[in-house]
Amino acid sequence: MTLSSPAPHQQAVETTDAVVVGAGMYGCYIACLLREHGLRVVLLDRADKLLTRASYANQARVHNGYHYPRSVLTALRSHVNFARFVSEFRPCIDDSFQMYYAIARQHSKVTARQFERFCLAVGAPLSPAPASVTARFDPAMTEAVFAAEEFAFDARKLADEMRGRLEHHAVDTRLGHALTGLAQADRGLEATWQSAQGQGRLATRFVFNCTYSNLNRVLELGQRRSIPLKHELTEMALVAVPPAMKAVGVTMMCGPFFSIMPFPSRGLHTLSHVRYTPHGSWRDEPGAPLTHRHDPDAFAQTSRFPHMVRDAARYMPELAACQHVDSLWEIKTVLPQNETDDGRPILWKRDAEWRQLVSVMGGKIDNVYDLEAEIATLLAEDL
Ligand SMILES: Cc1cc2nc3c(=O)[nH]c(=O)nc-3n(C[C@H](O)[C@H](O)[C@H](O)COP(=O)(O)OP(=O)(O)OC[C@H]3O[C@@H](n4cnc5c(N)ncnc54)[C@H](O)[C@@H]3O)c2cc1C
Repeated sequence: MTLSSPAPHQQAVETTDAVVVGAGMYGCYIACLLREHGLRVVLLDRADKLLTRASYANQARVHNGYHYPRSVLTALRSHVNFARFVSEFRPCIDDSFQMYYAIARQHSKVTARQFERFCLAVGAPLSPAPASVTARFDPAMTEAVFAAEEFAFDARKLADEMRGRLEHHAVDTRLGHALTGLAQADRGLEATWQSAQGQGRLATRFVFNCTYSNLNRVLELGQRRSIPLKHELTEMALVAVPPAMKAVGVTMMCGPFFSIMPFPSRGLHTLSHVRYTPHGSWRDEPGAPLTHRHDPDAFAQTSRFPHMVRDAARYMPELAACQHVDSLWEIKTVLPQNETDDGRPILWKRDAEWRQLVSVMGGKIDNVYDLEAEIATLLAEDL
C-alpha cells in the first residue's frame, strides 16, 4: 500500500435514503420497515454485534399488560402487542414456565380486587393460583396470588432472528461503526461515521436516532436541542434458583417490590427489585450540557443482590436459596412524564428544524409495532 492509498470509505460521500443509528431491537425493526417501503437503508452500530445493549440487558419479559395498572393505555397496547409478538417471534419465546402475580398486603398501590378488575378490563387472563402455590407465600405479607399468562424472550435468539431479517431485507448493516457527526446538507442530512478501518460520510434524506440512552448524545453531535429524559443505572441480578422455582416467575405488585423470572439466553433467572435495581438516576434537560456518561461500565458496579433477595424472601421464603451468579448492568431511560404512572409509550420525536431527523425510543421491546403507523405517516408526508 502506498502512503496516498485512502482507507476504505475514507473520502467518498455515499448516498442513501435513510441512516438508522443503533442496531438494538428498535433500529433493526425500523431498518426492515424502511426497506419494505422501498428505501435504501444503512444501519450503523458502534458495537460489533446486534442487540448488545438495552435489548439484551433487560428482564426479558414479554409484557401482556399486567404490569401497568396505573397506565391503562400502556396495558392495553401491551396486551394487543403480546399476541402478535409471541406469534411472530415464536422461536425466541420461552413459555415453559408459569408466571404468578402476587399482591402485597402493605404498601401496594393496588388491592387484589382492583388488580382483578383491571385485568378483566384489559383482557389479560388471570385466575387464582392453586392453593399449593399460594402456600409458598407468607400469608401475613401477601394478600393474593394469581396465575397470569406472560412469557420471556431469549435475547440471543432475538438477535439471530433480527440478523436473518436484516439479511432478508438486504439492509446495509455496518457493525463496529459509530456515528460521530450529523450535519445539514443540500438535500437532506449528512452522517459521519468512524470504524476501526476508517471514517466516512453518508448523504441521506432521513436519520433515525435509535440509540436509547444515547439519544441526546447523538442530537448533541448535530447541536440539536436535547429531549427531556430520565436515566437510571440499573442492575438485574442473574440468579440460579432452587429447583421448585425453575419453571416459575413471580412479580409482586404494585410498588417497591421484587420480580423474578427466567432469563432464557443464560439459563438463569433475573431478580429485580423496584427499590434496589436502580443504583442512581439523572436527567437530560433541554439546553443543559450532558454531564453523565451513558455507559454502565463507567460506574462502580457493587451488587445489591443481598438486599433484593432478603426482601423477596420475606414474601416467598424459598427465594432465600437463590444464588447470585452475575448481574446485568444497563442505563435505563424513561420519559420523565411516565415516572408516576409507569406508562411506556414510544417516543417518536422529529427535530424542530431538521424534520428528517427522528429520535425513537421504546419503553418495551414489543412496542416496536407502534412504529409502523409513524413510519407510514412520515413517508407519506415526505413524498
Ligand atoms: C433494566 C431494564 C429492564 C427492562 N425490562 C424489560 C422487559 O422485561 N421487557 C421489555 O419489553 N423491555 C424491557 N426493558 C426495555 C427494553 O430493554 C428497551 O425498550 C429496548 O431494549 C430498547 O431498544 P433500543 O433498540 O431502543 O435500544 P438498545 O438495545 O440499547 O440499542 C441502542 C443501540 O444504539 C447503539 N449506539 C449508541 N450510540 C451510538 C452511536 N453514536 N453510533 C452507533 N451506535 C450507537 C448502541 O450500541 C446500541 O446497540 C428494560 C430495560 C432495562 C434497561
